Amino acid sequence: MDAERAPSPVSGGSTAWRFVTPALPGVVGSEIWGRGIVAGVMPPADGRVYMYVSVADAAGVPRDLDELRARLADWHDPVPALLASVDDATALRHELRHLPAPPASLAAGRVALVGDAAHAMLPNLGQGGCQALEDGVVLGARVRPDDNVSAALQRWSAERRPRVHQVMRLSARISVPTLWTAPAATAVRDAGMRAVGRWTEALGSRALRPVMAWRPPEG
Ligand SMILES: Cc1cc2nc3c(=O)[nH]c(=O)nc-3n(C[C@H](O)[C@H](O)[C@H](O)COP(=O)(O)OP(=O)(O)OC[C@H]3O[C@@H](n4cnc5c(N)ncnc54)[C@H](O)[C@@H]3O)c2cc1C
Repeated sequence: MDAERAPSPVSGGSTAWRFVTPALPGVVGSEIWGRGIVAGVMPPADGRVYMYVSVADAAGVPRDLDELRARLADWHDPVPALLASVDDATALRHELRHLPAPPASLAAGRVALVGDAAHAMLPNLGQGGCQALEDGVVLGARVRPDDNVSAALQRWSAERRPRVHQVMRLSARISVPTLWTAPAATAVRDAGMRAVGRWTEALGSRALRPVMAWRPPEG
């Protein structure tokens, strides 16, 4: 972890809002892609839904929630109704930044970098927090009380770094078509998604297999 050579965060090219709001009847989990705008709704739990909307810089980022609501007023259900029900005071808004790569080592001496400090990634795979948890699980399994801590942390870093780097790369790659705003580009993208049709889920699962197939170390 040489601070001079540690990667610095770079822009992910969009701003995201997140909110939890009461579920409306019939709401199911979905993700909707527009021109430079993505809206996602998680399946309801406890009568509430978690929703996110990201807007690419190239699409012109709304100044506030009211402007976001106006922008998505003609989107299909349940997007406008869910946005209307959001309590503005609880909404989160963040410009998305990420690290282009993890540092050469996630450990220096007896210090380990975990989570976003080591591998802040774009949220398109929903993996940033998950990878932080994996870091902790593997750390707990691999570093034993009577170990040489520095050496154990270097081994831990060697195990974790390729894994988090792979997920960072995949997240960044998946974000690219969500940032497109040109009608020709989004038309080709959407036609491709339609052509894939019912295989979308199977292809998506295959692409995500390396991410989802991870299992915690035994013991
Ligand atoms: C729009 C969006 C959607 C996301 N969706 C998902 C998702 O669906 N699934 C998922 O797994 N991940 C998701 N993430 C990523 C996830 O939020 C992060 O990867 C995760 O929060 C990282 O956890 P962390 O503990 O490493 O860092 P953080 O959550 O940033 O925690 C660091 C904490 O340290 C505190 N801190 C900083 N400096 C100091 C200091 N000097 N002294 C004391 N405290 C300090 C900060 O205030 C903060 O509370 C999303 C992120 C965004 C932006």
